[in-house]
Amino acid sequence: MFKVVTCLTYEHDYSYVVIAAIVCVMSSIMTVRLFDRAKRLPTESPLSWTILSGMAGGAAIWTTHFVAMLGFRIPMDHAFNPFLTLASLLIAIVFTAKGLHVAVTGADRFSSEGGGLIIGVGIVAMHFTGMAGLEVAGHIQWDWSLAALSVVFALVLGALTTHLLARHSFAWSRPLAMLTLVLAICSMHFTAMGAATLVPDPSVFVPARAISSEFLAVLVLAAMAVVAGLALYVLDTRTQRELIDSFRHAATHDALTGLPNRAFLSAHLPQMLEQGRAAATETAVLVVDLDRFKEVNDVHGHHCGDFLLQTLAERFTDCLGSGELVARVGGDEFIAVKQHVRAQAQVDDFARRLVACVLEPMQHEANTLGVGASVGVSLYPGDFNDAEELVGAADLAMYRAKRSLGDKVCYYESSMDEGRRARSALAMELRHAIERNELELYYQPQLDVRTGQVSGYEALLRWHHRTRGVVSPTEFIPIAEETGLIIPIGEWVLKTVCAEVARWSKPYRVAVNVASAQLTQVDLPRMVHEILLRTGLPAGRLELEITEASVIEDRDRTLHVIRQLKALGVTIAMDDYGTGYSSLSTLQVFPFDKVKIDRSFVDGLMTNETSTAIVKATILLASSLKIAVLAEGVERQEQVDFLQAEGCAEMQGFLFGRPQPLTDIAETVGCGDEARGAPGSAARAASAAEAA
Ligand code: C2E
Ligand code: MG
Ligand code: MG
Repeated sequence: MFKVVTCLTYEHDYSYVVIAAIVCVMSSIMTVRLFDRAKRLPTESPLSWTILSGMAGGAAIWTTHFVAMLGFRIPMDHAFNPFLTLASLLIAIVFTAKGLHVAVTGADRFSSEGGGLIIGVGIVAMHFTGMAGLEVAGHIQWDWSLAALSVVFALVLGALTTHLLARHSFAWSRPLAMLTLVLAICSMHFTAMGAATLVPDPSVFVPARAISSEFLAVLVLAAMAVVAGLALYVLDTRTQRELIDSFRHAATHDALTGLPNRAFLSAHLPQMLEQGRAAATETAVLVVDLDRFKEVNDVHGHHCGDFLLQTLAERFTDCLGSGELVARVGGDEFIAVKQHVRAQAQVDDFARRLVACVLEPMQHEANTLGVGASVGVSLYPGDFNDAEELVGAADLAMYRAKRSLGDKVCYYESSMDEGRRARSALAMELRHAIERNELELYYQPQLDVRTGQVSGYEALLRWHHRTRGVVSPTEFIPIAEETGLIIPIGEWVLKTVCAEVARWSKPYRVAVNVASAQLTQVDLPRMVHEILLRTGLPAGRLELEITEASVIEDRDRTLHVIRQLKALGVTIAMDDYGTGYSSLSTLQVFPFDKVKIDRSFVDGLMTNETSTAIVKATILLASSLKIAVLAEGVERQEQVDFLQAEGCAEMQGFLFGRPQPLTDIAETVGCGDEARGAPGSAARAASAAEAA
């Protein structure tokens, strides 16, 4: 060790040592920064980057060594072998590049340290090759134990450097790594220099073609300039470009799924359409909307919904071919584009692939997630010439697909636009329906399966439109829900039904449909209470029908409202059971008094195995939970026989009576002449007169 200290203090020119130290510190800082940068690059980081980093880091290490060499006082004639000097530079570059690459991308357990070892080997190899290139008028005698120690310094400190960089991120890990690298370079250099003793030998001549110290100084200066230039290029240019790229990527891609977003689509769709036009091919725009996604979110939580979207995005990306694109433009809405379309079959195939991605079940923790997809398609230039209009058209087609029971993929047709216009016109008129006395309640009987006697009625709303005649609730209730008109309409229904039924002399129970928007109103129980008090209808005669979907929308709040309603004495029925998402669990959690099996299952009794099984299972489950079961849509005697055999409590359907105006059932329920003044009768009379 003493030899090393003597070597450093007596055999070196301090000014060179200081310069070497500065270069060494700078090169260490740069290598550490290069390492951090490399880690942030994608794994398939380009080879050119590794070469650049190796050149910058390796040349810096080489420069340190040779600046220090120039400061080494050599008391005899000397020069540098050009070939070995150049070879030492190349060694430093190659090993540094390889070491950084292994430390950053290596997948083995000790890759990080392995990379540091390679850099250490590079420092050693560079040093001894450089020393081998030192031509002196004498010999070099080596102290092998010191030489070995210098190798140990380089390897251990090199590995420690990348270990700190790759495995730690505490506040001092970077400065520490820089320090260990400085120590790796300096301790190696000066220990190895201390290990060398120059013994003059007049019989040895310095070859003429060797590089002089002055020329080496120029070479080192040039290397320093190259290093500085490369460092600037690698770190700064790259930083800026990456920064710009990452901002651009974030602005045009969805953060959750990594898919292109609406901004990307707006920027690229016109271009894609133009390319299609130039190639005389069609371009298809597909709007893909997930069915039942909201339920997944509500039932299983948002992390589950996020997982579903991410998995779906991966599947979409994997199934895309050339000229195809999928963007996420909303919570559960995607827009896909297919270029170079020559036949509709190609679009059909694309839509089928996308739907298949959605339908394939997903497993998240203990849950199997299942969602559906509705797809709307528009074509350029067939349907519209403008990107925005094409998306709007595909959107309309998607809504058609969503509403239809069978088709999950719908192509845009110009009649859809007319449909949209008609819907908004209907919405305008619906606003005035109450004040114009155009609404009326019809009543459909519900029967006890065992006795065959009427046990109650369901109140069903009808709209007597002045020119269209009777408008079905399946047409106007969704519009009322979309526009918020369901709130005043729902209140009118409750008031009217309770007032009408309170006048019946027979104490039949009446069921009233309640929309999900009404259920989310916290003052619904108070309103029902007031209506019951005002009309005098006993609470036990009122049943409220709510659907599964509204239950799932906000479970806690709905449960709270239902409990308050039940506290009034009102009974609660679940309508359209089986068409929603989480039927079984909902039955257990919510205190329903009755379940109404949807008519689509009753319709399939005896002909469809699944429907039969669902009806059987529901009756079984409900009876174990002490919940009554009513089968909707009974139209045939054999359905009655089946329901009787299975122990179903109630039934409702055209077989026993269609929904009828109050006047038609007045006698049965015992309300005599009062029914004639029923709301809606004026409007009916008016429309009948108009028709006549
Ligand atoms: P819902 O509550 O499931 O009502 C039963 C529907 O099935 C009624 O249609 C009824 O006419 C029909 N139906 C009954 N028996 C049979 C049968 O044997 N065969 C067939 N094919 N159909 C049968 P409607 O009156 O057209 O009502 C449709 C839906 O509109 C109702 O379905 C309900 O969801 C909604 N709705 C009706 N009135 C109101 C209301 O006052 N408020 C709210 N929020 N929704 C209402
Ligand atoms: Mg109903
Ligand atoms: Mg129903």
